[in-house]
Amino acid sequence: INAIFVDDHNNDEMDDQVIVLIYDITDIRRLEKVRTDFIANASHELKTPVTALQGFSETLLDGAIEDQETARYFVEIMNKESNRLGHLISDILDLAKIEQDQLTHHIESVDLEEAVDEVVQQVQMEADKKPIQIVKDNRNNQPIIFNSERGQINQIITNLVNNAINYTDPGGQVRISIEELVNNVQITVADNGIGIPEEDLPRIFERFYRVSKSRSSSSGGTGLGLSIVRNIVRSMGGHIDVSSQFGQGTEFRVLLPKNE
Ligand code: ADP
Repeated sequence: INAIFVDDHNNDEMDDQVIVLIYDITDIRRLEKVRTDFIANASHELKTPVTALQGFSETLLDGAIEDQETARYFVEIMNKESNRLGHLISDILDLAKIEQDQLTHHIESVDLEEAVDEVVQQVQMEADKKPIQIVKDNRNNQPIIFNSERGQINQIITNLVNNAINYTDPGGQVRISIEELVNNVQITVADNGIGIPEEDLPRIFERFYRVSKSRSSSSGGTGLGLSIVRNIVRSMGGHIDVSSQFGQGTEFRVLLPKNE
């Protein structure tokens, strides 16, 4: 708490009067810390792939390029690391845009089933590779059409479904359910994958938080996907929650307002 005492010296009659202004700066301090932590984390995360790219390219130039097998192996790593760098940069830019409230709020009529189909088309190849079965379920059995933001909805479902695929073992299933409620629509993405330990659940929406580095790093994730989702959902006036059983599966539920 900051207190500022103002004594008006120019006015004799007011000499014994004092104005006390009390500001609660806890929130400002907290936001500052969030920001500096973010920059520190982002720099660290960006450095890792860049260091790998520098190291492997230098080793290639120093002669490793002459050995075809080694060269191929190094270039594969460089390819993976540059993809990772690309994902990181685009996630960081997305987050910055959301946090500066630069999302263009373009409300239009959205057919939720179509929105889900679009995402399934985008991720189907990735799912088939593993393989993971993707199931769609419209609990209303009739079109769900409401006013919302198509691009934002696509990003929410895409991030949740990509995670569900990433954190589910081959042969598993991802179910995307949609349902129209009185004032909201509900999107549920459920998997029967590896699950999230109870102690990690409250933290998974934090920026750069990953459940266990060794467990998640092979998935090539950035640790930003869920914080992007939560930010978008909030900016739309919605709500997201999660339940999970470690080793059994995970379910994310998103409630979005219908903007009638
Ligand atoms: P990442 O890029 O690492 O996937 P996210 O922000 O999307 O980052 O998710 C944060 C962490 O939450 C992940 O690293 C993972 O450990 C955990 N997680 C997210 N979705 C799931 C899921 N469907 N099943 C199990 N764990 C999950």
